[in-house]
Amino acid sequence: MKRCDTKAQLGVMVQQTRAVGKKVGFVPTMGALHPGHASLIERASNECDFVVVSVFVNPTQFDNAQDFATYPIALERDIDVAQAAGAHAVFTPKVVELYGGDLAVEPVNYGRLTSTFEGKMRKGHFDGVVAVVRKLFQAVQADAAYFGEKDLQQLAVIRRLAADEFEGLEIVGCPLIREEDGLAMSSRNVRMSDDDRQTALHLSGWLKSIRADASAGIEVGKLLDKVRLEAAAVEGLELEYVDAVNGHTFEPQQVTGNGNGVFAIIAADVGGIRLIDNCRLACS
Ligand code: AMP
Repeated sequence: MKRCDTKAQLGVMVQQTRAVGKKVGFVPTMGALHPGHASLIERASNECDFVVVSVFVNPTQFDNAQDFATYPIALERDIDVAQAAGAHAVFTPKVVELYGGDLAVEPVNYGRLTSTFEGKMRKGHFDGVVAVVRKLFQAVQADAAYFGEKDLQQLAVIRRLAADEFEGLEIVGCPLIREEDGLAMSSRNVRMSDDDRQTALHLSGWLKSIRADASAGIEVGKLLDKVRLEAAAVEGLELEYVDAVNGHTFEPQQVTGNGNGVFAIIAADVGGIRLIDNCRLACS
């Protein structure tokens, strides 16, 4: 497996690969790789001939300086994880390589996709995400890019970016991977204390019961209200939102049924760590 730090090195490698008709897959990450990331790389390596994984902690998508300062970094281990999962190249640019000296990013307006939920709670977050993913897409020139449903709203934003600006690039959404106890895997989980981790399990627990009760025919609005009430009573947990939306448009949608892509989404702060999770409410 190759490691490169510059767009020029990566460009040569990818051009040589494409020149012989190989399909190039791309998995962007911020590192501290866990089995959720590995599942994306494995999927890419099953579907593509050459897989590039980027590891880059993007400063412009953090709305919280403390979160950026304490974001876990484990580059040597990441390289091993990426290789074991089937990556052919790891792209590890420095900030200046992608941004030059200018960290200012353009505001992005994709309507509800960028103004609600994560877009509302984390001001400027999607501006930074779109800025970096655009730069990475331009650098990698992949045929397909793989993103996790863990960040469901981000996935919808990236689909829109690709539709607007990267014709022919396939965006592949991959299932959310959980710990055995149900907690959605996240690089930030390593920063949680044991007590906070137990508290954090409420999120996946609530989603699971919303899903079960919704399939038993209980009105989704009532289930969401019940979770809001329960959350208010949990010490150490600050609920930001819980709702039901169409996973592509992020329009509120509480009527579930086969194939209509409704997801329950939730975000909360537990012990200073922001957690997001979601689950599909009906099969599609
Ligand atoms: P990050 O390193 O957190 O920016 O995530 C890089 C990619 O991995 C994104 O497409 C995420 O949605 C995806 N990802 C992160 N955690 C998970 C998970 N638990 N399951 C599936 N995909 C994930």
